[in-house]
Amino acid sequence: MPTIHLLPDLLVSQIAAGEVVERPASALKELVENSLDAGAGAIRVDLEEGGIRLLRVADDGVGIARDDLALALARHATSKIATLADLEAVASLGFRGEALASIAAVARLTLTSRAAGAQHAWRIAAQDGIVSLPEPAALARGTVVEVRDLFFNTPARRKFLKTIATEYAHCEEALRRMALGRPGVAFEFWHNGRVIWRHGPQAWDERVMAVMGEDFTRAARTVDASAGEIRLHGLVGLPAYHRAGRDAQYLYVNGRHVRDKLLGHAVREAYRDVLHHERHPAYVLFLDLPPQRVDVNVHPAKTEVRFRDARAVHQFVLHSLERVLGRQQSGDRGQTTEGLALSTRRGEAQGGDGMPESSTATTSSSLCPSAARGEGGRHPGTLPMAIAEPAAYYGMVAEALAEPASAPASPASQPSPPLGYAIAQLAGTYILAENDAGLVVVDMHAAHERIVYERLKEALDGARMAAQPLLIPVVFAASPLEMVTVEESGADLAAMGFELAPVSPTHLAVRALPALLKEADAEGLARQVLREIQAVGAGKVLTARRNELLATLACHAAIRVNRRLTLPEMNALLRDMERIPRADQCNHGRPTWFQLTLADLDRLFMRGK
Ligand code: ADP
Ligand code: MG
Repeated sequence: MPTIHLLPDLLVSQIAAGEVVERPASALKELVENSLDAGAGAIRVDLEEGGIRLLRVADDGVGIARDDLALALARHATSKIATLADLEAVASLGFRGEALASIAAVARLTLTSRAAGAQHAWRIAAQDGIVSLPEPAALARGTVVEVRDLFFNTPARRKFLKTIATEYAHCEEALRRMALGRPGVAFEFWHNGRVIWRHGPQAWDERVMAVMGEDFTRAARTVDASAGEIRLHGLVGLPAYHRAGRDAQYLYVNGRHVRDKLLGHAVREAYRDVLHHERHPAYVLFLDLPPQRVDVNVHPAKTEVRFRDARAVHQFVLHSLERVLGRQQSGDRGQTTEGLALSTRRGEAQGGDGMPESSTATTSSSLCPSAARGEGGRHPGTLPMAIAEPAAYYGMVAEALAEPASAPASPASQPSPPLGYAIAQLAGTYILAENDAGLVVVDMHAAHERIVYERLKEALDGARMAAQPLLIPVVFAASPLEMVTVEESGADLAAMGFELAPVSPTHLAVRALPALLKEADAEGLARQVLREIQAVGAGKVLTARRNELLATLACHAAIRVNRRLTLPEMNALLRDMERIPRADQCNHGRPTWFQLTLADLDRLFMRGK
C-alpha cells in the first residue's frame, strides 16, 4: 500500500505555478500587476530572448520593507487582503499571494526594493526554494523584480515553450493589454536592449490611439454610458472596421483585462445585425462598477470574473452599445433617407429615420470594406429597386436565371445571355445591362468578388495555388505577431501562393502573391492572410476555414468601387458571372445583381392595364 505524505514545499509551489505561470507572458503579467497594485506611476519592462532568459520589471511604487522581502516570496502571503470581507470587495489586481512564490519556484528570482523612507534598498535572491538573506542594494525608489531562466528546473514545462519570437509576441501582447488598461501609468518596453515602445502618462483616449493606432480610432465611436453605479466607456469600432479574428478586442472590468463570456456575448449581440457573423468587431471597453458587485476570484490567472447581477450587466452593456452602433447606422443613412422615403416602404419604416432596420444596402457595405462607396457615391436607395422585399427579389433573380429568354422584348432573334449586354455604368458602382426581360442591375464589386472567389477555390482544389513573384517586393512595417506568424507558417503561406520574408526585425517583404490576385494590394492581402492565420491557426486556415479565407482574399482583390469600366469590360464581367456557380450572391450572401422587368417598369410608370 502506498503511504501518504505531505509534498515538499518547493514541489507544492511548482505545482501551483502550473496554474499561474504558463509562459513568460503570464509571469510578466503577474509582475506588472504587482507594480500597478503598488501604485506605480511608471513601469519599465526589459526582456531578453522573449522573456525566457530574462524578465525584469522595475517600478516606482511603494516598495517593500526589508523584513517583508522574504514574505513576499512565501505562498499565501499578501499585503492586499486580510479578511473574507476584503476578498469580497477586492480592488487590487492581485490578492491570492501566490504569484511571486510560484515564479520563484520555477525560475531564478531576485527582488530588490526600497520602501518609502528607507535609507537604501535591499535585495533577496531565490532559487529552488532557497531564499537568501537581505543584502543592501542600490535603487532610488520602488521595486525591481528579475526573473531569469524560466522553467530551468522544470524541464517538462520548459519543453512547452515556443520559439523566442512567439514568447516575445505573447509578452508584448500582455504588456500592451495592461498599458491599455492603465493609461495614467507610463510604460516602457525593451527587448534585447532595444526599446520597443514607450508611453508617457496619458488620458484614456490618447492611450487607445497610441496602442491601437489611428486607423482604429478613426473608425470607432466613443461609448460613455452609466446606470447607477455602473459605467461603460471606451471606443467601439464601426462595423466597417471588422477583423478576421478577435485580436483587437479589449475588455476591462475595474481596470482588469478579462475574457468574459457574458460580456463577450453582450458585445456580439450588439453587433449582430450590422456585422457578418464570421467577422469580428474591434473594441476597447472599460466597465467600472463597485467591487462588491463582481467576483474576481474565479480563476488563478484572474482573467474571468463573475457578476453578482449578470443579467443586468449584460443588458446594460448590450443596450449601451446598441445605442452607439445604432446611432452610427442612421448617420450613415442620412444621405439616403430622402430617396428611400419615396419608396413604398415608407409606411413600414421603423424609428424616425425613415429606414427599415436592416436594409440590405446598409448591412452589406459593412461587410467588405472595399465595397463601401466613397464620398459622393450614390446609393441604391434612390433607385426604384429598393422597393423589392429581399425575399421577392431573390425569387425574381431565380426566375430570371431559370427562364432567361421567356420575355419577348428583344428585337434580335437570338435570345440575349441571362445577364444581357451592358449599356452603362452607374455611380461607379453598378453595371446596367439590358436582357430580354428588361433591365439588369449588377453590383460590380460584389459580382467580381464572387468570380475571384470561385476561381481561387478552383485553383486551390488543384493542389497548391500558383504564385506570381513580384518584380519589386512590397515592404511594410509589421507587428511582432505578424513577424512570428511568417516565421512559423512559411510553408502554409507558400501553399496559398504567398511568399513573405522578414527584411529586418520589424519589416516584412511580400515577394510573391497568388497569381490570381497579382493585381491586388499586396500589403493588404498579406496582412489579411496573416490575421486569419493568427486567428485560427495555419492548419485550420487551409482546411476548415479555407472558404472564409478565400472570401476575404477575394474581397480584397475585387474591383474597387468607383472604377470606370468600359462596355467590353462590363460584358466580360457579365459573361464570367454566368459561368460561375452561385453567381447571384456574393460571398457575404448579399445579392450581386437584380432584375427589373419591363412589367415592373410599366407598373412604375402606370402604363397599360
Ligand atoms: P499578491 O499580488 O496576490 O498579493 P504576489 O505573490 O504577487 O501576491 O505578491 C506578494 C506581495 O509582495 C504583495 O502582496 C505585495 O505586498 C508585495 N509586492 C510584490 N510585488 C511588489 C511591487 N512591485 N511593489 C511593492 N510590493 C510588491
Ligand atoms: Mg501579485
